[in-house]
This record gives sequence, C-alpha cells and structure tokens, in this order.
Amino acid sequence: MSMKHLYAVLFCWLFFTITSLAQRNTERLDLLTKLKLANHDTARMDLHIQLADLYITEESNAEKGINHANIALILAQNYRDQERQFLALDKLIKSYFDIKSDVKTATNFLNTMKSIDTSAISIQNQALIFGHEGKIFSALNDFDKAERAFAFQLKIYNRKNYDAGKAEANFNLGALFYHQDNFERALKYYEKALTGYDAVGDARRKLKTLNAIGQTYGKLGDFTKNLAFSSDALVLAQTIEDKLELAKINLNMGFAYQHLDRSIEAIGYYNEVLEYGEIMNNYPLIARSSMELGNIYHELCNEIQAAIYYEGSLEVVEKVRTKNLKKEIFESIFEFHDDYGRDSVGYIYLKKIGKLKDELYSEERARQLGINQIRYETEKRQEEVKFLRARELENNLIIENQRLQNYALIGLMLLAIAFSIILYNALRQKRANNERLEEEVKKRTAELEISNDELKYFNTELERSNNELERFAYIASHDLKSPLRNVISFLSLIKRKLKKKEPDQDLEEYLRFASNNAHQMHNLIQDVLEFSRFDRKETKNTEVDLNESLIMVMQNLQETMEKKNAVVFAQSLPIIEGNSVRILQLFQNLVGNGIKYNANPKPRVIVGHRMDKTSHVFSVIDNGIGISEQYHQQIFEMFKRLHTREEYQGTGIGLALCKKIVDNMDGEIWLESEEGKGTTFYFSIPKVGGN
Ligand code: ADP
Repeated sequence: MSMKHLYAVLFCWLFFTITSLAQRNTERLDLLTKLKLANHDTARMDLHIQLADLYITEESNAEKGINHANIALILAQNYRDQERQFLALDKLIKSYFDIKSDVKTATNFLNTMKSIDTSAISIQNQALIFGHEGKIFSALNDFDKAERAFAFQLKIYNRKNYDAGKAEANFNLGALFYHQDNFERALKYYEKALTGYDAVGDARRKLKTLNAIGQTYGKLGDFTKNLAFSSDALVLAQTIEDKLELAKINLNMGFAYQHLDRSIEAIGYYNEVLEYGEIMNNYPLIARSSMELGNIYHELCNEIQAAIYYEGSLEVVEKVRTKNLKKEIFESIFEFHDDYGRDSVGYIYLKKIGKLKDELYSEERARQLGINQIRYETEKRQEEVKFLRARELENNLIIENQRLQNYALIGLMLLAIAFSIILYNALRQKRANNERLEEEVKKRTAELEISNDELKYFNTELERSNNELERFAYIASHDLKSPLRNVISFLSLIKRKLKKKEPDQDLEEYLRFASNNAHQMHNLIQDVLEFSRFDRKETKNTEVDLNESLIMVMQNLQETMEKKNAVVFAQSLPIIEGNSVRILQLFQNLVGNGIKYNANPKPRVIVGHRMDKTSHVFSVIDNGIGISEQYHQQIFEMFKRLHTREEYQGTGIGLALCKKIVDNMDGEIWLESEEGKGTTFYFSIPKVGGN
C-alpha cells in the first residue's frame, strides 16, 4: 500500500468517524428525547434499558450504563415487573463485568438476578443468567464450570431455536477457549457465532466476531488470515460506524502487519488507532498506539520519531489504569534509552518498572484473594441453591405424596359413595320388596279375614239353619206325636169295639196294619225327637261308673236277650267323667245292635276296654251278620239302614246318635267287620284328669 493510498484510507476513516459520531449522538439524543416525553413508566423503563445497552455496548461508558440500568431497576422493582428487573440487572452486570471488570459487584447483581422468581420470565431471558455465570467462572479461571454454563445456555437457545442467543453462546464459548489459549477450539465456536450473527443480521456483533477470528488466527501465527478477517471486520465497522471497534480492528491489523515485518502498513493502522484514541479521549488506545509506533520507529532506527511517539505515550500513561500496559510502555522506553546508552534515564524507567512490578504483584495477590473470596461466596451460594433445590424437590415430593394421598382418599370416598349407593339401592329394593310382601300379606290377610268372616258367617248360618232344622224336627216330631197318639188310641178303640161285634178278618188285618204303621211312625218320631233333643238337653257331666251303666243296659235289653238267647260279657270297665244318660244310650245302641243284627243261634256280645297314652278305648264285639266294608262309613249317617224293616226293625238313627255322643266327648268311633263273621265297634274317649 502506497502512502497515497494510506492517506486516502485515513481520510475516509476520518470522514466515517465524524459522521458516525454524529449519528451515534443522534440515536442517543433520540432515546433521551423519547425519555423526556414518555408519560408512561413502562415506556420509561424500556427507554432506560435501551440507553443502558447503548452506553455499554457502543461507548463502553460504564457509569452512564449503570445510571440508566439502576433507574430501570428501581422502577421495575416498584412495579414488581420481574421481566424488566431481570433486563436491568443484565445491563448492570454487563457494566460492572464487561467494562469495569468488577467481578465482585457483577457477582452480587447476578445473585440478585438469580433470586428473582423466574416463573414470569421468558426462557430466553432466563438463559442470560448462564451467560453471566459462564463469564464470571471464566474470570475466576474456573473454566470447566464456565464451559458448562455456556453449553447449558447454548442448549436452551437451541431448544428454543433462538438464533441470536445461539450465536452469543457460541461467541462466549469461543472467547472462553481463547482465554485458555485453546485457539483451535476458539475458532470453531467463533465461526459458528459468525454464521449465527450473519443469519440474524447483527452487524455489530458480526464484526466483533470477525475481528475475534482475525485475532485468534494472529495468535496461531497465521497473520494472512488474521488480516483477511480483520479487513472484513473493518469494512463492516465502516458501514455501521463503530468507532471503538474500528480502533480495535486497526490495532489488530497494525499488530498483524508488524509481525509480517510490514512496518509502513503497521504505522498506518497504529496511527489510525492513535487518532481514534484522541477523538474518543481513550487514553489506553493513545498510550498503546503511541508505544507501538515508538517501537516500530525504534526498530527502524528512527530515533527521533521513536522518541516523539514514546513521549506521546508518556503524556497519557498516568491516566492509564491498566498497570500491565504502563509496565509495557516503561519497558519499551527503557529498552529504547538502553539501546542508545542513556543509562541514567534508563535507570529511572527501570525503577518505575520495578515499582509497577511490585504493585502488580500485590494487586495480583489482592485479586487472587478477591477471586478466592468470590469463589467461596459463589460456592456457598451454589450450596444454598443446591440446598434450596433439594428442599424444593422434597416439597415437591411431599406435595406429590399428598396429591397421591388425596387421590387415594378421593378414590376411597368415591368407592364409599358407590358402595353407599349400591347399598342404598339394595336396601330400597329390599324395602320395596318388603313393602310389596307386606302389602301382599295384608291383602292376603284381609282376604283371609274376609274368608274367615265368610266362614264364620256361613258357620253361624249353618249352625242357625241346623238349629232351625233341629228345632223344626223337634217341633214337628213333638207336634206329630199327640195326633199319632190319638190315632193309635182310636185304632185300639175301634179294635175293642170290633171284638164285640161280628168278626171280620179283613177289617182286623187292616186295623193291625194301620196300628203297626202308627207304632212304627211313633218310634221314628221318638228317635228323631231324641236326636234333635240331644243339644237342647242339659249336658251335666258327672263321674259315671261304666260297670253300672252296662248293668242297666243289660236290664233294659233283658227281654230281647232272652228272646234271642243272647249273652253279654264285659271286662271290668273304668269310671269316667261324662253324661250318664248319653253313655247309657251309646252302650245300649251298640250292644243292642250286636244282638239285633245277629243270626247266630247263640248271639254273643263282649264289651272290652283298654287304655292308650291319651284315651280310653272301648270295644263292642259281636258274632253277628257283619257289615260289608263299603258301608263302614255310611252307617253313621242319619236314616242309613242296610236292611228293610221286614228283615230288621229300626229307624236308622241309632249309630248317628252314637257318633254324635262320641264326638261330643271329643272322641272317635270306627268299626272293623267282615260280612258273616261279626262286627267290632270301637270308640275312644279322651282321658280327663286321673280317669
Ligand atoms: P236301626 O238299628 O234302627 O236300623 P242303626 O243306626 O242302629 O239303626 O243301624 C243302622 C244299620 O246298621 C242297621 O240297619 C244295620 O243294617 C246295621 N247294623 C248296625 N249294627 C249292626 C251290627 N252289630 N251288625 C250288623 N249290622 C248292623
């Protein structure tokens, strides 16, 4: 590059610098005007944050950045706006860390940032924490932790597909490896960052990355590539007029040309840096560029030029806070004087260098102490965070357990409810069934009651009609008796009168027939009367000696017995409680029938007695004609007769009366018989008391 070209470039730089300065001022003024006009605190917070960002990233003015960030922070705290508190703290950390290199204060702000409830903060902004953490760990030479923090930040941005963030994380990783002198790896990350910034169109960060790549190639000794990337950065810096970056790029390029032994180009670039330094009142830039120019001229053995530039650097050296740069300047000037044999002057610089070395040593010790302190606090803080995380996890577990318990409880309750419903339904069903059954029972009972009533009614009706019938029979037979008696009396009168007159055979026959029928009718009426009188008679029970009753029976039947040549035997009979007349009737009918219905030349009747558990059982055994089995039941019915009157006299009422007497004594009557072989009548009478 010829001098002509160099001047042209210099002119261009000057032009761009002035215009960029004007434009930068315009941007800042614009923001400040907006701030004055902003009548809403949210807008004011945003403007303060933007201004802080502007001062930090473009002008490296830490104090102004801090001012605006602080105002934004206080406002955000008042409004409990976590997202903006977060952004304001981000700017404060950048001011203290990036510009002021105050790791301790930056760490404190980072801790404040970590203590904010992140639930209302976007994931992208949350990832800022890991960026700052990485930088602080890097400053504490804890590179592993720094790498993990940046990698985690990168992971979040990857997941969120946030390209600007991804590029920044890659840049941070590049810077981390550069700091560790691992230039190969640094290049890899820087290149990724470059692609990222290119994609999102962030020119300012792209040119920084280009310059960083150039610088890294420089460290690797590849100055051609160093210059290639730095030149690209330079073009970009020109378009966006970033003065500070331009100065840095020029410094980088000057360094590259110096190492390529291309002093003229190097002088040109360092002069650029010097001018930017003077424009910006950036003393380190002035001091460094003057020193580098002094060094080149010293090497070119241009003593006068070298002396001028060294003098220039000395003019501002006291305003430079970086002691390393100061030391470098003093060392260069010492070498310069030493080379030209100015020992006494050289000695002055040697002394200064020694003093600076001491200061640097104690500063380094203090820094190390500070780092240790910060590391201790950070670790303590991390322990606290770990502890809090563990507690949070524990709480989550407890909550989870409680939730499970609640679910179980709800499940049990639901089961209980379901069970209750089933039980309730079953009970309701059962109750309904019971009610239905009860209804049915009631209905049936009512029906039964009705039928009982009906039965009762019919019984009383039957009883009444029986009574009426018996009463009718009684009245009829009673009333029939007296005219019949008259008929019989008149018949015998007629008979007697006829005896005195002429005997008339036929008339006598007629009269005998009439008289027989009248007697037969009388007997019938007598028996009916006896039967129907049965219930009407007083039934007085007394102790009855059946032996005596049987003797009376035999007396009553004496005539018949004699007539038929019959005999009656009897066992010893008991004394029982009962109606003596009826018992007499009972025995007389049975014994009488045994003699009457007997064709045996020697009729025999045996009266027996035995006892079973509950009753006296009597038997009347004859050796008579017997009764066919088909009539064993029928013969107890009224008027039931098995023979004609011509064969055997009778009315057919005797056995009916016997049954009525036994029934009345709660006993039973039955018979065993075979035709032609005799008959046995049995009757039982329940034992009463001691009988
Ligand atoms: P009656 O003797 O007045 O005819 P009963 O009521 O005493 O009426 O007898 C009814 C019928 O039973 C009799 O007509 C007779 O045919 C039959 N009978 C009763 N006792 C005997 C007996 N011991 N042996 C055979 N037949 C008998």
